[in-house]
Amino acid sequence: MRVRHPHGETPHLRRVPPGTPVPVLLYHSVSADDTGRVGRYSMTPALFRAHVAWIAEQGFSTLTVSDYAAALRGEIPLPGRPLVVTFDDGYADFLDQAAPVLAEHRVRSTLYVTTRPVGETRRGTLGGRPMLTWGELRQLAALGVEIGAHSHDHAQLDLLPRSKALQQVSTCKRLLEDHLQVDVRSFAYPHGYNSSATRRAVMAAGYASACGVQNARSHTRDSLWSLARIMFERDDGVDRLRRACVTDVDPVARVGDTIRSRGWRLARRVLVRVRAQALAPPTTSGM
Ligand SMILES: [Zn+2]
Repeated sequence: MRVRHPHGETPHLRRVPPGTPVPVLLYHSVSADDTGRVGRYSMTPALFRAHVAWIAEQGFSTLTVSDYAAALRGEIPLPGRPLVVTFDDGYADFLDQAAPVLAEHRVRSTLYVTTRPVGETRRGTLGGRPMLTWGELRQLAALGVEIGAHSHDHAQLDLLPRSKALQQVSTCKRLLEDHLQVDVRSFAYPHGYNSSATRRAVMAAGYASACGVQNARSHTRDSLWSLARIMFERDDGVDRLRRACVTDVDPVARVGDTIRSRGWRLARRVLVRVRAQALAPPTTSGM
């Protein structure tokens, strides 16, 4: 069933009641810098602080993605009012601008790291921003931030041959585990793009869960291999956060590929052939 969304989108609604909705939030960067490709995905420190303060005030029980996945598998109980905070890519500003605010409000989080650019500081790296170093990632892991993997090159995995996709998801796991001496149990698809072949590669590499992007709430019957996340951009205020977390206005995720996502994959495949690197924002809607 499809219904017209009040804001003009046409979300899919599941016919089966989805169980408890669980907001899984996706951020990229917390920075006053609004330039470059990541500018649109960089939230100001003041607004991010307001988001985290609201999450704390509302009394959500925050958990890492791996804890959420364990709850979905029935291994641990899901706490009341669950909420998950995630960050993608591994920008350096996470250490100074996000981690202290999250720690102050005791909000747990999962940080998905793309491994090839780790430690790069010059402009022109992934998104044109400085990236966290291995030492900083070790610090964050010691602070209790869950470190997940986000591929080695930030590639559109669903367009790669199986062997190359497997290499992307395995290399980043091995590098993170070697450098940080932690188990890396969760993966996030770059741009949210995934297919059944991509999901199988992630399972084969030894992960226990994976996140996509659907701009819908996850729920207790969501797929462990494509958990829905709601992405926040620079100007998404606390009102949008509230709508995403506690109202029934935003939809809950549907499970499995849609005709729309398959069509978009086909279009990207053609575009990538025509223009190498044609589409490379940090994350786009995981349609
Ligand atoms: Zn990304």
